[in-house]
Amino acid sequence: MKHPPYDERDPSYLGMDQSIHREDHLSTDSTSTVATKTADTIYGLTAEDWDGFSGVGDYRNANGNTHAVMMDGHSVRDESIDPFFRTPKDAEETYDCVVVGAGISGLAAAQVFKQQAPDKTCLILDNHPVFGGEARRNEFDVDGHRLIAPQGSAMFFPPLPGSSLFDFYQSMGFDGKELDYQALSSELEAMPVANTTYAGTGENLGMFFGAKFGHPEGLWVTDPYGKKLEGTPFPLEVKRQLLGQLQPPVAEMLPRAKTFGDEASRALDRISMEDLLIRNHGYTRDMIRTYMPDAASGAGSSADAISALADYVPDLLFPYDTKQGSQMFPGGNTGIARFQIKALIPDSIPGPATSANLFRSPINFNSLDRPDQPIRVRLKSTVYSVQHEGSLEHATAVSIAYLEGGKLHRIRARSVVMAGGWSTWRIVQDLPDSHRGAYQQFFRMPCLVANIALTNWRFLAKNGLSEAVWFEGLGNSFAVRRMPSFSVNGTRLSPDDPIVLTLKIYFTEPGLSLQEQATRGRMKMLSTPFSEYERTLREQFQLMFGRWGFDAKRDIAGIILNRWGHAYLCAQPGFFFGTDGTPAPREILRRAPFYRIAFANSDLSGIMDHRASIAEAQRAVTQLLA
Ligand SMILES: Cc1cc2nc3c(=O)[nH]c(=O)nc-3n(C[C@H](O)[C@H](O)[C@H](O)COP(=O)(O)OP(=O)(O)OC[C@H]3O[C@@H](n4cnc5c(N)ncnc54)[C@H](O)[C@@H]3O)c2cc1C
Repeated sequence: MKHPPYDERDPSYLGMDQSIHREDHLSTDSTSTVATKTADTIYGLTAEDWDGFSGVGDYRNANGNTHAVMMDGHSVRDESIDPFFRTPKDAEETYDCVVVGAGISGLAAAQVFKQQAPDKTCLILDNHPVFGGEARRNEFDVDGHRLIAPQGSAMFFPPLPGSSLFDFYQSMGFDGKELDYQALSSELEAMPVANTTYAGTGENLGMFFGAKFGHPEGLWVTDPYGKKLEGTPFPLEVKRQLLGQLQPPVAEMLPRAKTFGDEASRALDRISMEDLLIRNHGYTRDMIRTYMPDAASGAGSSADAISALADYVPDLLFPYDTKQGSQMFPGGNTGIARFQIKALIPDSIPGPATSANLFRSPINFNSLDRPDQPIRVRLKSTVYSVQHEGSLEHATAVSIAYLEGGKLHRIRARSVVMAGGWSTWRIVQDLPDSHRGAYQQFFRMPCLVANIALTNWRFLAKNGLSEAVWFEGLGNSFAVRRMPSFSVNGTRLSPDDPIVLTLKIYFTEPGLSLQEQATRGRMKMLSTPFSEYERTLREQFQLMFGRWGFDAKRDIAGIILNRWGHAYLCAQPGFFFGTDGTPAPREILRRAPFYRIAFANSDLSGIMDHRASIAEAQRAVTQLLA
């Protein structure tokens, strides 16, 4: 892709030399979140090729699965750690409970443990430099503005009063209600601007078509649905499908599930989402695969590989106040994780437990792992072995081994919650085949979340746009969003303000098995250097927006990439209720603890949702304490 005013050989091509991307992030400061960078390679990439620029603030050097985390994780996977260390030796510390994973589920497990067993001790171990798991944020400093965007987990959904989630939120001082969002500057007042990063179908949407549609120089159609897709290069038949103008044979339509477990939900679980779209909407397979890149975005895979029930499970399990709608903290569900850490260790974030303060105040990392406190969080610690001491029936403790700063440690606990998800079957050494086999039916697709900071978005606003979708290149959509008022000191959103656009980049390949899609996607995502992604994104934005005065060199203030190797659990048909009378794999893990070890993480619910993370943690800890 070439643009006449730019020369690819020029080091400043499209802003590739901008200092914000090249600032020194190779510090080895041990008191902060800053990780040590090495020249070792993984998937052929050094730490610098892998991590790239990672922003500022608490989450600097903690963007997605970092190079350091991958190096440690792979030494566990490849069993390259000396087996000597896998054999029990004296434990350095003993806890009542050890939780593996400090994502929302692991933090919730510790919260429930603290509530139900206040006199007991609990240690949470996590491999990343900051707690939160997929609920972490990126921070940019652009012209004196601190800009925040989610790395992964994004939206929360106001719970219904009386629900377990409502009580859980309340217990940490969070009311869970609709947030107040910033107002718009006078010139934008007529424009609907979202309060999440997800594009809708309103008049503020632009649809872009490129070479794939015979328009190498690009074609925009604004307000495409308002115009009934007129002017788009979609074939007529595709337009009719996208506009919902086809009437599928009513006799073949599957009914909606009303409750999780009813006959309709079981029937949906037997087929793929793609088959459901064909049956109930009259779409063709080719149309779904070519023109609906988002058909199964909640799972990060193609619609043919996902249970038709998967999309409905969140609402069946966790009905919420739809009048208030989906909500988003500045850093997505990082806002929830920060409430959680505050509830566990009150001085972990100084000041009151309010959304505004928890957003603004920095994490006090020194408070997380002090010897005198009942709940401790130990970061940069990769657990590689969990095993009952002695025979399963008579074991009174579990031995846990982990790698931290190149050193191996062994501790012991009376009980363990495995909240790290997919890696559990590699770590629990005495896990029976039934459980191991169940975990091997959990497939996780990769996802790359790119946060792109812009100095302004006037080039969009002057065309009446704040959202875009496209069908080729990296990502497929974005939405400019209004930030919660508490994060912007009451200022109104203007097109001259710096903003961050969040792009999700999927690696789907319809027609392949989930396992193949996941492996190939992971290889592709993890072996591509930061600079290549950066160049492609800059070129893509220049092609898309250059016609409106956008200049990648001038207007892109920074790019942070978050590589999630195992981002999304993909629930294949049969995941929820099993196939041919065999139990669903998740039920094998949920129905009881394995002696002193219980299992949490959102993936046990089959959906990527922090509400599932919390519910699974509540179940796991309650099982252990019973
Ligand atoms: C791109 C993306 C967007 C999403 N958007 C939303 C959304 O809008 N709303 C929503 O509710 N949910 C969303 N989710 C789902 C998200 O998965 C959950 O919300 C939630 O954050 C998951 O929390 P968890 O604790 O269950 O798992 P995780 O966040 O994965 O936490 C597990 C933690 O355990 C650590 N760990 C694993 N193995 C080990 C080990 N051996 N040793 C030490 N530590 C280990 C992991 O590194 C991680 O830190 C999204 C997910 C992704 C990827």
